[in-house]
Amino acid sequence: MWVRMRFDIAWSDLACGIRSVCLPWDPATLQQQICRHWSAPEEMLPCLSVRSGFDLLWAALGLAPGSEVLMSALTIPDMARIAEHHGLVAVPVDLDVEHMAPNLEVLQRAITPATRALLVAHLFGTRVPMEPIMKVARQHGLLVIEDCAQAFVGRDYEGHPDADAAMFSFGPIKTATALGGAVIRVRDPDVLRRMRARQATYPMQDRGAYLRRLVKYSTLKAASSRPLCDGILSLCRAAELDHDHMINGATRGFAGPHFFERIRRQPSGPLLVVLERRLRTFDPRQIAERAARGDFLVSRLPRGLKRPGGEAQENTHWVFPILVDQPRRVIASLGKAGFDATQGGSLRVIAPPADRPELDPRAVRDAAAKTVFLPLCPQMPIRSVRRMARVLWQLQGEPARRPAVARSPAVRGRLRRGRSPLVFQQGAAQG
Ligand SMILES: *Cc1c(COP(=O)(O)O)cnc(C)c1O
Repeated sequence: MWVRMRFDIAWSDLACGIRSVCLPWDPATLQQQICRHWSAPEEMLPCLSVRSGFDLLWAALGLAPGSEVLMSALTIPDMARIAEHHGLVAVPVDLDVEHMAPNLEVLQRAITPATRALLVAHLFGTRVPMEPIMKVARQHGLLVIEDCAQAFVGRDYEGHPDADAAMFSFGPIKTATALGGAVIRVRDPDVLRRMRARQATYPMQDRGAYLRRLVKYSTLKAASSRPLCDGILSLCRAAELDHDHMINGATRGFAGPHFFERIRRQPSGPLLVVLERRLRTFDPRQIAERAARGDFLVSRLPRGLKRPGGEAQENTHWVFPILVDQPRRVIASLGKAGFDATQGGSLRVIAPPADRPELDPRAVRDAAAKTVFLPLCPQMPIRSVRRMARVLWQLQGEPARRPAVARSPAVRGRLRRGRSPLVFQQGAAQG
């Protein structure tokens, strides 16, 4: 079975983390080293998580209670919760699903005199073109915050230069994960100073807790290797356990009570060591490979098949969602063929404030009900990618056809010789 549960972290990173738990560190020095991996080190703040940084940001901004924050209507549920905790009103902005970008018309209609800020999430590996959004924001004097948790690609994108803040997550399911940690870019030095001062009053993340994380994800990484995974999945089936539910539960951070107490921690030395290592050794070619693999699957899909972000100009395919009318049937058929697709994800649709039902994000809600994530991962050989596409063709009642998209002669040649394009082989070697 090809599972979607793959963690983007090497055994050597995990070993480095486990080693560093036992050593003394100076977090301040490590923080500086982390900041130096970004183009504007003086604007960066390493945090325990994006949610921790987002919470710090609102505390530092001190907006008047009742201020409205427009948000991409699809995000992790904690983001709206954090804004609301600071007395703000979270207002969803429906997305144009084909581009996975805030719908500009809806955005303009949602603005009221109480609107102060706009949170734009770059989702699934797509990148929202920020310029038109910045224009609207400038007209109305809105703060712009970019949620780049799913959009880390290294120095190629550190947020729009004029955005007030950009947030990058290195949580367990993210690109270049450190099993936690985040880096927040904040343009206003006063706001950043206040965030830093507030974070300095927080208790330190418990090293034992980080060690448990390292051990837990080492176990999950081992369990997601193919032979072991097949065994575990059959055990789950035998015991009638829902493995999908378990995966989602296992990878959700800060679940359970005392949420705010738990996000309000300084990142520990060992976490910063791993985060610094991930940034230092990050290879953007890994992103190019992932994007190429995704584009290849796109070229093989049934022509009528729609995808969230299918029309997006930039897509590095952090995950690979498709839109289908009968998600369960599709998941079952893929499962039979050995592909662990899923409907589940960590994202939720934000409900509109009670007095503004017209802002219900219908497009995103419809799409969410039809979305299935395919288990495209770097380890998957090209023939399996093709086979996965064929299953989808069969579901549409058509035999798989040659792709309509013309490819470069070099790639065509390699495919003809029955070899996967080079990028995929490099990806597999990294495994
Ligand atoms: C993962 C994620 C977050 C939260 O990141 P943490 O560092 O885990 O707090 C926020 N927004 C989006 C869109 C995410 O995918």
